[in-house]
Amino acid sequence: MSSVRVGVLALQGDVEEHEYAVKRAAEELGVNVDITRVKRVEHLNGLGVLIIPGGESTTIGSLARRNGLIDRLRDLIINGLPTLGTCAGAIFMAKEVRDSVVGETGQSILGVMDIAVVRNAFGRQGESFESDLEIDGIGIVRSVFIRSPAIIRAWGNTRPLASVMHPRLGNVITAAQENNMLTTAFHPELTTTKIHKYLLEVAMGRQ
Ligand code: GLN
Repeated sequence: MSSVRVGVLALQGDVEEHEYAVKRAAEELGVNVDITRVKRVEHLNGLGVLIIPGGESTTIGSLARRNGLIDRLRDLIINGLPTLGTCAGAIFMAKEVRDSVVGETGQSILGVMDIAVVRNAFGRQGESFESDLEIDGIGIVRSVFIRSPAIIRAWGNTRPLASVMHPRLGNVITAAQENNMLTTAFHPELTTTKIHKYLLEVAMGRQ
């Protein structure tokens, strides 16, 4: 059986947790995956799926820029590479980013997905929380929010898949899909294989 080459952007953040989650998801689906840690441009060759982990989006952005990855990643994603961005990964993919405290950040982003995000919208590390979220087409997912962004706007072909009521911002989006791009404000890799299975299904043309 042929295998799907999965790249996990491995500049900073919870890379191993995603590797583990996508490996389990593939086993559950009966699909073979071959996982590559993406640090440099040559690691992008032949990818069928890309995962951008959570962590610190300003660090991921500046390392990606330093390693010459920004333009190449952008091209691949715009041309249809199935991509999941979680938390900092979602921020890195968004077209509009601002921070809940400092406002404009000027950080390096890919700017590929029609979403606007507010970084750290749910407060500091100590205000992290978990909740069960209903994700459209995916089901209930235990969702861990760690200094998470809120997706405050989605436009174009972007479809909100889940939302929560934010104390100040009102209803905010916490998961969204735009064609081949999938983002979550939370960390599915810590609790479930459902989102990674969905991503592999997008890659296999089933979603
Ligand atoms: N607050 C982080 C950022 O802005 C994201 C946190 C996370 O990925 N858990 O990049």
